Amino acid sequence: MKFFIESAYFLASILFILGLKKLGSPDSAKRGNLLSACGMLLAVVATLAHEEIVSIPSICIAMFVGSLIGIYMAQKVAMTAMPEMVALLNGLGGLSSLCVGTAFVWSRSIVTPLDSLTLALSIFIGGITFTGSVVAWGKLKGVLPTKSIVFFAQKTLTSLLLFASAFVMTFLAIDPAAGSYFYACLIGFCLVLGLLFVFPIGGADMPVVISLLNSYSGLAASASGFVIQNSLLIISGALVGTSGIILTSIMCKAMNRSLSHVLFSGFSLKSASKKAGEKGSYKSMQPDDAYYLLESAKTILVVPGYGLAVAQAQHSLKELSALFEENGSDVRYAIHPVAGRMPGHMNVLLAEAGISYDALVEMDEINPTMEQVDVCIVIGANDVVNPSAKEDTSSPIYGMPVIETHRAKNVLILKRSMGSGFSGIENPLFFKSNAAMLFGDAKKTLQSLVTSMKNG
Ligand code: NDP
Repeated sequence: MKFFIESAYFLASILFILGLKKLGSPDSAKRGNLLSACGMLLAVVATLAHEEIVSIPSICIAMFVGSLIGIYMAQKVAMTAMPEMVALLNGLGGLSSLCVGTAFVWSRSIVTPLDSLTLALSIFIGGITFTGSVVAWGKLKGVLPTKSIVFFAQKTLTSLLLFASAFVMTFLAIDPAAGSYFYACLIGFCLVLGLLFVFPIGGADMPVVISLLNSYSGLAASASGFVIQNSLLIISGALVGTSGIILTSIMCKAMNRSLSHVLFSGFSLKSASKKAGEKGSYKSMQPDDAYYLLESAKTILVVPGYGLAVAQAQHSLKELSALFEENGSDVRYAIHPVAGRMPGHMNVLLAEAGISYDALVEMDEINPTMEQVDVCIVIGANDVVNPSAKEDTSSPIYGMPVIETHRAKNVLILKRSMGSGFSGIENPLFFKSNAAMLFGDAKKTLQSLVTSMKNG
């Protein structure tokens, strides 16, 4: 039986690694997901065959109830609320590690310093991940203020708790037989630390925080794997931990921020306040007028943003793009790495509408040739096309790589108002001479453009 379990774990680990590799490309991502799911099924079956499993019926009931909740949540969640769900799931991953560690403390005797240290680490990282993710969820959901939450002596309290946690963990490593009170203190410290770490981080930095918490949940799972001596948990936790760190680093680069800047300085909405007197005059256009511009365009670049997800306009976009192509235009799509509210948000929407991945173009590839684009259609995007990032050294987003639509021959901006984007700063793109606003819900505007194109 032991041989079967270890072989199954080995096979499951290989499936996880292959699945992760396939997730790297949009073409193979679905297969990658399926491979990983098969790996997980195998892992669950092998774990149930373990001799230490005492109650298969209660585990099956828990799995059944959990699966029902999972299926309900996955079907019910709106595309725009995905980041909140990811934050919540990360938090539950952290809570699981905390529970595994805690159960171990009260059910077994810990003999070696290494066991004791890994156990403490699993509890510590799991606890931080849990409460940190709950705060991230609250900020994204709007239950908590999105801006940075700072209070008196917050830094001192954080430092004190970190110091106390390090002390308790060192003590537990030196004396593994120390009382469970030390673990209880550690649980309290890490739960508060999770809150203190994420409270000061502004809403605009939440994607990075979520990705980092995802990585933490992996590390916590890996530490739990050492505690319960489960090789599969160690490997899968390490995979989640490292891929989360890589994603965090990619996102930091996309926002031109260092991780320490994100975590400790707070790119809060407060610092991104509008500059007075920046407003100019802007052009507003009706879809019927935009038709003339689009009808004669040889190259069209679509830049989607969060508003596309809000309006659920992806299918109308696909319909319009097909008409452009019939008309002889070359249509491409440029997606910024942090467009929307989670990594890959726009890619998922466009894929859902059946837009070919071949039509996607990287930001670094399109920016140098932007002058050759006849019409750029910005759909519900704002921060990711803000020229202040290039032109205004005093802007909070100065230096962030953006899709430089302002350098295209013409820019059509589909949004409902002159309101700002997620970071709360003004966008000078709207006032450029080559830009025109098409006000209204993106889906309705796209449908009007479809009608104009059809009627000629
Ligand atoms: P923004 O949030 O900057 O802008 C979205 C725009 O969409 C708004 O200006 C809004 O204008 C418009 N909009 C909203 N609803 C509609 C609608 N129904 N129809 C038409 N327009 C609509 O989005 P971007 O995608 O440009 O930038 C993403 C931002 O979100 C970045 O600041 C990023 O850091 C942040 N972020 C990214 C995450 C990620 O992982 N990708 C996660 C969390 C935050 P109006 O109200 O006038 O219509």
